[in-house]
Amino acid sequence: MVEVILKKGKEKAAIQRHPWVFSGAVEKIKGSPEDGDVIRLVAFDKEFLGYGFFNSRSRIAVRLMEWNEERQIDDTWFESRVAQAVSARRSLLNDQTDTCRIVFSEADFLPGLIVDKYGDFLSLQILSAGMEKKKSLLINILVKELQPKGIFDKSDASAREHEGLSAGTGLLWGAQPPEFLPVKENGIVYHVNIAEGQKSGFYCDQRENRLLLSGYAKDKDVLDCFSYSGGFSLNSLKQGAARVTSVDSSALAIETLRQNVQLNNLDLSRSESIQSDVNKQLRAFRDAGRTFDIIVLDPPKYAPSRSALDRAARAYKDLNRLGMLLLNQGGLLATFSCSGAVDIETFKQIIAWAALDAGKEVQVIRQFTQPEDHPVRLSFPEGEYLKGLLVRVL
Ligand code: SAH
Repeated sequence: MVEVILKKGKEKAAIQRHPWVFSGAVEKIKGSPEDGDVIRLVAFDKEFLGYGFFNSRSRIAVRLMEWNEERQIDDTWFESRVAQAVSARRSLLNDQTDTCRIVFSEADFLPGLIVDKYGDFLSLQILSAGMEKKKSLLINILVKELQPKGIFDKSDASAREHEGLSAGTGLLWGAQPPEFLPVKENGIVYHVNIAEGQKSGFYCDQRENRLLLSGYAKDKDVLDCFSYSGGFSLNSLKQGAARVTSVDSSALAIETLRQNVQLNNLDLSRSESIQSDVNKQLRAFRDAGRTFDIIVLDPPKYAPSRSALDRAARAYKDLNRLGMLLLNQGGLLATFSCSGAVDIETFKQIIAWAALDAGKEVQVIRQFTQPEDHPVRLSFPEGEYLKGLLVRVL
């Protein structure tokens, strides 16, 4: 097997089970691996460190997935890793919920593989050259484990570029999912458009937070910003919100949200959906003197990397300041960040800064996080990305 030898003193992260080895840490390669091959990583003194996928084109030269020298990375290894991930999600799936993340990349020891289940269909993201090579094996394993009707490739093109892979969307196995596939989450039905929808089709990472927030919604006037297909809106309507206003810039998101209100027999007259830019719409509400009891702010990732942090912090601050100004006395702001580069402490500071600018006192009454099907390995803190605060604004 090809051996990748690290520079002297560069073994610490691998020993601590961090899965990424940057190309700058590599001293020498013994053999001539193809991109995506499994290699043996050793320290400068030849001590075994782990097995991982090699890629000469990526800044991450090796993606480690096994630290036990005895465990060879063969087909059985992949079978057992996928089986372990599937079994950890079994308790999430029941007659109320048939959608969740099945495999979460490094967090499930399968670097570059994301699998989401949408009812009887699976949506795959293959984001490493190593997983690309194992694609047919992975499909066989998933078919055996989950008996889906179809498997669809939803790999994000920009992430694949870093690995030297071309875009890869389309049907991989079985039947084509319907354009609007009904899935269930906590008893609410959503149409998911796997082929055209964002990310892998649905944001199942907000499952618990939607439910938690809806507990505050009865008789309240709710504004759901960045609503997508209506996760927060539908839960709030179901729990008896007096009125829910949903805002998203995507026409497909708004169309799907409207379908979803009807699919769940919720009261259309209490729901208003607006296709607009949130920043613009918040200013329009302010100018019109419109206020709300609960505001959800769940924007897309503002900081794709650490270098974008300053700019992102200002954008989060402005958004939250505007949100706070539209709340009635004692109203609740549910504010999120899905930027991995913004940790919870930084996020709290940004919200404090927004409150100061808005001239408001705020109390944090709850912290939100990503659910258990998006686990965080403590040796891979980069996997923690979703955080949120429920804030009472005085
Ligand atoms: N809260 C949603 C997920 C939000 S994802 C849920 O529970 O499912 C982020 C959403 O923000 C996407 O739907 C995207 O279309 C929308 N979006 C991105 N930029 C926007 C902008 N400037 N104004 C309004 N919506 C925006």
